[in-house]
Amino acid sequence: MSILNTLSERANHQCELCGSTDNLSVYEVPPAEANSDKCVLVCSTCSSQLEDPQSIDVNHWRCLNDSMWSQVPAVQVVSWRMLKKLAGMGETWAQDQLDMMYMDEENREWAEMALADDSREPTLDSNGTPLQAGDNVVLIKDLDVKGGGFTAKRGTAVRGISLSDNPLHIEGRVNGQRIVIIAAYVKKS
Ligand SMILES: [Zn+2]
Repeated sequence: MSILNTLSERANHQCELCGSTDNLSVYEVPPAEANSDKCVLVCSTCSSQLEDPQSIDVNHWRCLNDSMWSQVPAVQVVSWRMLKKLAGMGETWAQDQLDMMYMDEENREWAEMALADDSREPTLDSNGTPLQAGDNVVLIKDLDVKGGGFTAKRGTAVRGISLSDNPLHIEGRVNGQRIVIIAAYVKKS
């Protein structure tokens, strides 16, 4: 049986988030796996807003008030993530629902997994290459280190950088001092 058929049966041919029967399709819950336990049957409205967070219509997602109580872990995970997103947009009702929501530990970990990824903007070097903690970089311009009383010269290698809360900054050791460096002023080496 295909995943779509399995899901349609599980979901009684309705969107598992809002109950609509419009254009149902399979939404693979990231990190995606082609396994019906990791998928949710969604309508076109839910699907397009899941794929494109810019298009979120807050009122549509009031449906989560019901779907968050689903017995299906994948539906709980999608509901939790969307509520989290809405709460982040300042929707206090979504935060209230999150506070009420019950999930076992395993599903909670699954739910939080992707959140770490997409809530974080990538830190990019001067070429637009994503930087990771532990990377080595080279300064592409002279930097006055405020408070350090020295200038970090262009071409200085900074080994084993760390990322900071601000995606535009990295941290690394120059002249034995740990300094904050603007990511756009370095190049990954
Ligand atoms: Zn829907």
